[in-house]
Amino acid sequence: MSPVADAGFLRLPLYFPEPVLRETRVARVKKIPFPPFTNAADLPELAALGQMPIAAITFTDVIFVHQDMATESTHFHELCHAVQVKTLGFDDYFLSYCIGFIQHGYAKNPFEITAFDLQSQFDRQVPAADAVGTVRAEALRAREWAAEFFRKHDVPMGG
Ligand SMILES: [Zn+2]
Repeated sequence: MSPVADAGFLRLPLYFPEPVLRETRVARVKKIPFPPFTNAADLPELAALGQMPIAAITFTDVIFVHQDMATESTHFHELCHAVQVKTLGFDDYFLSYCIGFIQHGYAKNPFEITAFDLQSQFDRQVPAADAVGTVRAEALRAREWAAEFFRKHDVPMGG
């Protein structure tokens, strides 16, 4: 496991500042690890998440990327998630992400919309003025939306 900064990608530094690329580490694996909750029989909505064929997943500051799909673009997408986690803290991120997934599905989940939008700019070589600032602002907005969802259902959201 080593910092993304050492992975030899040339375009990531155009979008992410050095500290983000240094603090986020990457592990290339043959099989993507999934949190055990996605097997839970009482959470069928989340079980769908565990069955998706995915190229990578991010836990706090570690990106697990499938060795056959370790493109710069995949790393870019996962770095967006790493910044989201850092912005909200793991608990809030995790709760908000799951509610987003249950309510909107994978691709329309606010956290994925941000990551895919920016990744698309990256793929098309469109410069992003402030990718990290955008990811942070959208993450805070998504948490606000999730907190509102919980309030409506009379569940207080901690953190
Ligand atoms: Zn994603």
